[in-house]
Amino acid sequence: MIAYDRRIRIFSGEYGLFDDESKDLFGTAAPVFNENYYQLVVGQLDSLLPGKGTVADRFQALANHFIIPKDKLDTVFRAAIAECRKRTLQHYTLPPNEDFKLEFVTDKSWSGYNWYKGNYQSVIQINTDLNIFIDRAIDVGSHESYPGHHVYNMLLEKNLYRDNGLVELSVYPLFSPQSLIAEGTANYGIEVVFPGTDKITFAREVLLPLAGLDTTGITLYFNALAIKGKLNYVRNDVGRRLLSGSMTEEEALRWLQDYGMNNKETAMKSISFIRNYRSYVINYNHCMDVMKSYIERNGGTNPETRWKVFEVLLSGQVRIQDILEPSK
Ligand SMILES: [Zn+2]
Repeated sequence: MIAYDRRIRIFSGEYGLFDDESKDLFGTAAPVFNENYYQLVVGQLDSLLPGKGTVADRFQALANHFIIPKDKLDTVFRAAIAECRKRTLQHYTLPPNEDFKLEFVTDKSWSGYNWYKGNYQSVIQINTDLNIFIDRAIDVGSHESYPGHHVYNMLLEKNLYRDNGLVELSVYPLFSPQSLIAEGTANYGIEVVFPGTDKITFAREVLLPLAGLDTTGITLYFNALAIKGKLNYVRNDVGRRLLSGSMTEEEALRWLQDYGMNNKETAMKSISFIRNYRSYVINYNHCMDVMKSYIERNGGTNPETRWKVFEVLLSGQVRIQDILEPSK
């Protein structure tokens, strides 16, 4: 109810502070990081990445080796999603008629979207406005499908709506604490489905050859990505400052480029996403860390146990409070 109330106010143009909005909508606020934190992490990337130029340029130069050619996108995404599905099925029983459609679209502010249609069917759309790098095939593929949104929505439909008759669960309010769980699990699910260095191995052995790309530098690229992951909070910090007016759009672009390692077009895309979805941006990184800490608190450091704790989270029967507060 708190979330609905806040959402209606935002929808009518009555904005609040970033953290107040996110607490009401999703039950939590992302931690605040200052410029020093980002400079420190960028320093780590600086020592890792070879070549000349700014850290962002060197990261971009490395990443550019791994752009999936447009005519290979369908093949690569299908292979990535098929692997995620295969691995998920080794742990979970899914409805036998479950399926998805994969579509490539343009002119969107998101990189991927799952339109869950009910009856265990999803339409997964991938935005091809920007270049898509090899790791995104795994991340976006898994996030939108297995064990991400497609599986989460199916389990909700099966366990809560069909088996328990909870009709209210047939509607999923995007701006609600349910998104904390949906986005948090979809992002942490990538770690669950590809633990440790599995992602690198899979990219090297399967996806890069399918994309017709050279595998040289792929380990370095994934190591750089792991450090870069710590910079993901920049979008929250930019959002918080930009929306409150304490940061100009120019500064926001600089932060997103210098500390987010985005190129200019991605940074601009990011700003348009922030303006559209406001504090929703905390769902991708902060909420993933919330899920990670919940799963680890509940004994999920071992890859096998992690699937089990993760399934309980996906089943929709965990209270938000229990996820947010360490168990006593
Ligand atoms: Zn998502």
